[in-house]
Amino acid sequence: MQVPLLDLRAQYASMKEGMLREISEVCDSQHFILGPKVEKLETEVAAYCRSNHAVGVTSGSDALIIALMVEGIKAGDEVITTPFTFFATVGAIVRVGATPVFADIDPVTYNIDPAKIEAKITPRTRAIIPVHLFGQAADMDPIMEIAKKHNLIVIEDACQAIGSEYKGRRVGSIGDYGCFSFFPSKNLGCFGDGGMVTCNDPEKAKLLKIFRNHGQSGTYIHEYVGGNFRLDALQAAVLSVKLPYLDGWSEARQKNAAEYREIFAGAGLDGKVSLPETASYPVRHIYNQFCIRVAGGKRDALLAHLRGIGIGCAIYYPLSLHLQKCFENLGGKPGDYPVCEAATQEIMALPIYPESTTEQRQAVVDAIAAFLA
Ligand SMILES: *Cc1c(COP(=O)(O)O)cnc(C)c1O
Repeated sequence: MQVPLLDLRAQYASMKEGMLREISEVCDSQHFILGPKVEKLETEVAAYCRSNHAVGVTSGSDALIIALMVEGIKAGDEVITTPFTFFATVGAIVRVGATPVFADIDPVTYNIDPAKIEAKITPRTRAIIPVHLFGQAADMDPIMEIAKKHNLIVIEDACQAIGSEYKGRRVGSIGDYGCFSFFPSKNLGCFGDGGMVTCNDPEKAKLLKIFRNHGQSGTYIHEYVGGNFRLDALQAAVLSVKLPYLDGWSEARQKNAAEYREIFAGAGLDGKVSLPETASYPVRHIYNQFCIRVAGGKRDALLAHLRGIGIGCAIYYPLSLHLQKCFENLGGKPGDYPVCEAATQEIMALPIYPESTTEQRQAVVDAIAAFLA
């Protein structure tokens, strides 16, 4: 049985007509950059994320960069983040000239371990970027407390976690900024690249809008050097059509995760495979990924086997970011972040997309059990 890691075709088919109507409206208007469709989406996303403001940008990567730029974070500044995340989190810090400083992760949630942050703070530290990895919220209360005590900005990387909650609060509404990605494979994806920054402070929202348009405060009047970080109307139109379905998709992902747990429980894989764990604090996990851990050094062989028989799976992420060649100058060594490094050796994502079926999940678990038997 073929089981793709992600298949967006069913989702598109279910809303094709409305989608094409919206796209056609944008084409008829010939208004492609920012404008009413983007403003409408910003209002909708702010409400969905329970944030006061939302500003549409070109991508999740640019959402991170623009938040750092608005705060004036630059060369000589340090930003604390996790080594276990998509490259863009750390790339954004380096792109503005600042220095990333890593704190190891919590072994249960794979998110930055708040207990490891304070030791990393220096007089140069300006911000903390927690990432809500795989759709499960990082432990925000202690992070916000540390930030308050040391006067640091908190930028939530919520690119994998739209709609995820921490103690009843939506991610992106807790820190100073929330950064979201609408890359097609995210839980809410557009038809290209897109992103959003949420914030509660109206002054910050105003600056985000100025910075996304080359720092232009009046026509051809530039108070700052920003960039071209503008979301386009076609992507906004697509996202407005999809947003009302997002909670249904998140619930389907949660149901699929629960079903995996049931099927795995009967598969005799205890000690060989461990399933994703839920945080000790209350969360709404939206399962952007369902990542298992494979013990005994068998992960890579299992992955190759599953792919060979048509089961999609992937490794998020195979290398701790402090060991990436491009960050060599930061002086990271193997063993610096042992919890993260252990995860990179064992972790593997299985198909969990909303439309995947019980039969597919059974086939995935059967194949894993047969291989590891
Ligand atoms: C996807 C992702 C990004 C980048 O988003 P893009 O829209 O692809 O630029 C940043 N951080 C994390 C954690 C992500 O998963």
